[in-house]
Amino acid sequence: MNYINLGVLRYAAAELAAAEQTGRRVTCMWQPDSEAPRCDREAEYLVPDATRVSAGGDIEVAALWFCREHLELELGEPVKEQPLLWPVERPEEVD
Ligand SMILES: [Zn+2]
Repeated sequence: MNYINLGVLRYAAAELAAAEQTGRRVTCMWQPDSEAPRCDREAEYLVPDATRVSAGGDIEVAALWFCREHLELELGEPVKEQPLLWPVERPEEVD
């Protein structure tokens, strides 16, 4: 089971909406090390609990945008499809 804090989801959705409104791209934040430039290709995934090396050299957990290639690199395997299915309440099941 995966889970995501709604605060993270809300922030990410607002950032995506703001980017779309201004024609900006949300880009991949992957970088091989803290000195190197970011990948900067268009992001396809949000990883809410990714890790990165901070400027001070510490490992910190952060929500990061990734392109598919770098998510697969981090996972070590192909990404799984994520069908968006919301449970539908059936009228006969509601009291
Ligand atoms: Zn990337």
